[in-house]
Amino acid sequence: MLYRDEAIVLRTHKLGEADRIITLLTRQHGRVRAVAKGVRRTTSRFGSRLEPFTHVDLQLAEGRNLDTITQAETLTPFSKGLGLDYDRYTAGTVMLETADRLVSEEREPSVQQFLLLVGGLRAMVAGEHAPGQVLDSYLLRSLAVAGWAPSFDHCARCGTEGPHRWFNPSMGGVVCATCRVPGSASPSPETLALLGALLAGDWAVVDVAPARNLKEASGLVAAFLAWHLERALKSLVYVER
Ligand SMILES: [Zn+2]
Repeated sequence: MLYRDEAIVLRTHKLGEADRIITLLTRQHGRVRAVAKGVRRTTSRFGSRLEPFTHVDLQLAEGRNLDTITQAETLTPFSKGLGLDYDRYTAGTVMLETADRLVSEEREPSVQQFLLLVGGLRAMVAGEHAPGQVLDSYLLRSLAVAGWAPSFDHCARCGTEGPHRWFNPSMGGVVCATCRVPGSASPSPETLALLGALLAGDWAVVDVAPARNLKEASGLVAAFLAWHLERALKSLVYVER
C-alpha cells in the first residue's frame, strides 16, 4: 500500500550499511518513522532531501514495522536558510526536538503541530523577529496545542482573575497568593505580559520588549517546557509498559 504526505524531517539515524531511519512529522499521519534505502550512498536518488529541517513531499510504502520512503521531493529546504546563522540554527534544532517529543505517539494525526512547526521554521528563516523569541513563541504554542496551555493572566489553579505575582510551571502558569506553593517564581508584571504576547504571537509587543524581560520570559518558558517534557516522557514510559 502506497500513500503520499508532506512532512518535516525531524531527525535521522543510520541503519545498516547505507540506509537511514528518518523520523518525520507529517501533515496527515502525525509522527512517522520510515526507512530511506541507500540514502547514504553518493548515488542516492534522495540526495540531501531527507536531512533534518527539510520540508518534503513524500511517497511511502506501508511496512509491517517501518514504512519505506519511495519518493521524496523538496518543498522548502529550511536548513539552507538556517545553516548560516548559528543562533537561528540552534533555535531551529530545539524546535525539531520539541516537536519530536510533544508528538510522541506515532501515526496520531497532529495537523496543528505540523502547521505550527512549518510556520515556526518559516519565521526563523525569514529573520523578521529575534530567533530566541520565535523559539519561545513556538514552544508556548506547541505546548498549548499539546494540551498544556499556560496561563499568564488568571490563576492556573482556581481561575481567579489576574494579574497575579507567582508563577509555577507544575501548576500551569501564574497562581494567586492563596494557591501558590513554595518555590514559585515571582516574575515582573512586564514579563508576564510579554509571555502572553509570545503565546498570542503579538509581535508588536514582543519586538519592542526590553532585554531583561525577554531573558526572564525565556527562562520561564524553558522551565515550563522542561516540566512538561519530563512528564510527557514519564507518561510515555507508563504507556509502553
Ligand atoms: Zn488561585
